Amino acid sequence: MKRYQLRINGEALDPAGGRWFETQNPYSGEAWAEIPECDARDVDRAVQVAHAALTTGPWSQMTATQRGALLHRLGDLIARDARKLAETEVRDNGKLLAEMHAQLNYIPQWFYYYGGLADKVQGAVLPLDKKGYLSYTRNEPVGVVAAITPWNSPLLLASWKIAPALAAGCTVVIKPSEFTSASTLELAELFEEAGFPPGVFNVVTGFGKDVGSPLVEHPLVRKISFTGSDATGRLINEQAARHFKHTAMELGGKSPNVVFEDADMDQAVFGAISGIFAATGQTCIAGSRLLVQDSIHDRFVEKLLSIARTARMGNPMDADTQVGPVTTPPQYRKVLEYLDIARQDGATLLLGGQAASRPECGKGWFVEPTIFGDVTNNMRIAQEEVFGPVLSIIRFKDEEEAVAIANDVRFGLAAAVWTRDIGRAVRMSERLQAGTVWVNCYRAVSFMAPFGGYKDSGLGRENGIDAIREFLQVKTVWINSG
Ligand code: ADP
Repeated sequence: MKRYQLRINGEALDPAGGRWFETQNPYSGEAWAEIPECDARDVDRAVQVAHAALTTGPWSQMTATQRGALLHRLGDLIARDARKLAETEVRDNGKLLAEMHAQLNYIPQWFYYYGGLADKVQGAVLPLDKKGYLSYTRNEPVGVVAAITPWNSPLLLASWKIAPALAAGCTVVIKPSEFTSASTLELAELFEEAGFPPGVFNVVTGFGKDVGSPLVEHPLVRKISFTGSDATGRLINEQAARHFKHTAMELGGKSPNVVFEDADMDQAVFGAISGIFAATGQTCIAGSRLLVQDSIHDRFVEKLLSIARTARMGNPMDADTQVGPVTTPPQYRKVLEYLDIARQDGATLLLGGQAASRPECGKGWFVEPTIFGDVTNNMRIAQEEVFGPVLSIIRFKDEEEAVAIANDVRFGLAAAVWTRDIGRAVRMSERLQAGTVWVNCYRAVSFMAPFGGYKDSGLGRENGIDAIREFLQVKTVWINSG
């Protein structure tokens, strides 16, 4: 079994406590690697070197252009190793190999984009109401950044944080999810090769309370960039607030996918299916609430079922598998619990509804793609994030009701509308309370497009030109010119 080491100051190290824990393959259920079980001592060491790199090391002396060049080089190395990194992620989180290949091939773009942006951040010379001064602003790195990432897309979501943070001149200590730490440790190996000075990028692995919490609490960490559940996000945000730390929170969702009677049916069916079943429903943007207009409801649902029924489950490494396992045992149990809750609340089971135990599913944690009909918005299945392959179908009669239902959740990450009426598309995109609205598409994201949540789905925005500002602080300089 492969044994990983943590990465601090450019070195591969054993954890201070000398302990490792096993990481499992969700398809086979078998342990395949050992991950360092860090504690507060490792966190302190990582943060101290990150702080030294930020304040006194060669990184602190580099120009933004030089930082940008390093980010470009790192992007090239990720592209070179994309296949290996993709396979590590599939082994660890059970996503389809094709999907992970696509993701890993896309990730370098974040490093190229923010690498290019690094030397384009400008301050301003300020117009003043006083004579005898020159005043201008400088954009300075906000400090040591703690990045805390989840298990569903480990490297993609890490890149959304790392690339703009480094472009801004910050240094980073990252704690990946305990379920999927391997790929982030492999990524760290590329930093030295790209030419980054030691201490700029450090990885500590382990559990939330042993590693995440001391990282959030560490006095030298100034910014916490978190992606994960809203419960953990709330906890971290409270902890951070006590020390006035900056936070960016990318949390859960309960995204509505709204299909009107004038939609292109085939397109909308495809959007509904990929909206919920991609990555086995384990995406924060999953279209877990399908709102279908009364007049087409039965026809639409029939078509949806005829396609969803054919979904092939199996080994995520196989090219023809369409639905893989749930990534973690606790998540598997949680999804199964929601299947019971939905039934008890009166939803009608239309497809799936149980654990999958077919031979092609190995010994892993598989749940049948599940669809519930007759869901009303007060049911728990319509209000709470399941994070699994479970779709709830809700009827509506008109635009007004669609908006009311769509917005009647505490989340607001994403929403989609399917219609051929341009006026309706515009009205809906204005009225939906979500950080992203897709019209006649689902799941489109880009390094160029801001991404983040309304309401309980989060704070701050990742991606796009302004994301670099999330890692900068403004200093105003006054010069007495007499
Ligand atoms: P999930 O990834 O299942 O949505 P979490 O929100 O719990 O669940 O996990 C996201 C990340 O937050 C993981 O890296 C996890 O280890 C970390 N984490 C969990 N609890 C804490 C905590 N109390 N403080 C800091 N980080 C935590």
